[in-house]
Amino acid sequence: MSLSDDRQAVWGGSGTGDAAARPSDGPGPATRSLAGARVLVVGLGRFGGGVGVTRWLAGQGARVTVTDQADADSLAQSVATISDLHVDHHLGGHESVDLTAIDLAVINPAIDKRHSVFFSEIRRRGVPWTTEINLFCERCPAWVIGVTGSYGKSTTSAMLATALQATFSQAGRTTRVFLGGNIGGSLLADLGGMSADDVVVLEMSNAQLEDLPRIGWAPPLAVITNVFPHHLDRYDGPPGYFEAKLNIVRDPARQSRVIVGRLHPMMADMLADEIPEREGRIRRVHQPERPFELSIPGGHNQSNAACALEVCLTLGHDETIVRSALSSFPGLPHRLQHVRTVGGVDYFNDSKATAPPATVSAAASFDQPVVVIVGGQDKGMSFNACAETLVRTCRAVVCTGESGPAFAEAVRACAGASHDAAGPHDAGTSRDVEVKEADSLEAAVTCAASRAQPGDVVLFAPGAPSFDAYANFTQRGDHFVRLVTAMPG
Ligand code: ADP
Repeated sequence: MSLSDDRQAVWGGSGTGDAAARPSDGPGPATRSLAGARVLVVGLGRFGGGVGVTRWLAGQGARVTVTDQADADSLAQSVATISDLHVDHHLGGHESVDLTAIDLAVINPAIDKRHSVFFSEIRRRGVPWTTEINLFCERCPAWVIGVTGSYGKSTTSAMLATALQATFSQAGRTTRVFLGGNIGGSLLADLGGMSADDVVVLEMSNAQLEDLPRIGWAPPLAVITNVFPHHLDRYDGPPGYFEAKLNIVRDPARQSRVIVGRLHPMMADMLADEIPEREGRIRRVHQPERPFELSIPGGHNQSNAACALEVCLTLGHDETIVRSALSSFPGLPHRLQHVRTVGGVDYFNDSKATAPPATVSAAASFDQPVVVIVGGQDKGMSFNACAETLVRTCRAVVCTGESGPAFAEAVRACAGASHDAAGPHDAGTSRDVEVKEADSLEAAVTCAASRAQPGDVVLFAPGAPSFDAYANFTQRGDHFVRLVTAMPG
């Protein structure tokens, strides 16, 4: 089976065939050379989000200036990775003078375009602007499967890439599968080696999707793992976030297909308005009766695997090969990553749980009692729904970080209410769940270890962003792993 057979499988349902797919299938509008162009990269990022595009632009012969609100000290790691390039740095704030003689600005997706004064200035002056993902998509010769969703994007993308590569290899095909986008690392550097026979699994965040319509392109096959209100500090309300997500199916030729998991009812309505059911371009994810054999726990990972399988079945791949590939998928770091067993207690790092619903999925993944560590940057989110799950599933909840006190209050209130419902009790406490507060992650790990009994799970699933104390969720998870690794065994 060739790659065009894969495309035929996707398009076959509407009888349009491969040729008809082309308008949305290949690169976007004609792309001009950037050699000699003066390009301003707006946002290098402490996590190196702007590093890949800066390196690629310099490699294209562009004259690059990098600007960032953060100063050189806090960006030291990212600056070091581009120190070999002839690139100007204007760090510690954006300056309008940088806009006087440039041909293109590349805006980092982390920049909130609604509130950025510098971005308003770029628009006011009519400076052409784009994004890293748009530069990639409009040049990508390979066939792109776009993956988005509120939760499970990275895991599903990685599972899908693993399964596709396995099926191609088993079939003796030379098709290569590239995995990139929001999952980390720019794929721009790989463009030179990509061909039309390759497949790209491209994880796309809401922020990356916001500007996709500007290049008049959407992936020929999209996956939406699930969508619920999220990242609401960036939008006026859920519809703004849902709109951004919908850009993944806004293919101007109206031929792209989409595979969808669970959607918030408003998002489901918006998708139905965008792609009427009669067009036959939507395929729902079905949870198969036979569970997947996975090395990573959790019902949510069964859902992620079901998404990956649905894509593979849509492309005509063999279910047995896909299941076998998924069974050897090791999981991603910081997503229910098993760290160590100490004294019969299993320690799991789920630092990527950056919002309460992710903590819910993580805590509900285990049959054994859980001692959970929660808390992180306080973004004013409600912990009430999360608290209900924690009260049901946990032996103890250890709260830390900026949002620790609010988390503790929500769990105590919920435990008290469920105890009320169960019978007489001491005011504000529960028979079942212990609520503890710790003023550092070190103290939280020590406290969790002291509450856990052999056979329990200690789960680090903060349910909040990491920015109160870390550069990102990776550093936070690495800290937890170091602390657990250092525990006397
Ligand atoms: P994303 O890339 O969308 O942030 P990840 O695959 O990195 O998703 O997982 C992030 C966290 O979200 C995980 O640590 C887990 O707690 C939770 N999670 C993963 N998949 C799902 C899912 N399908 N539904 C709900 N929560 C999930």
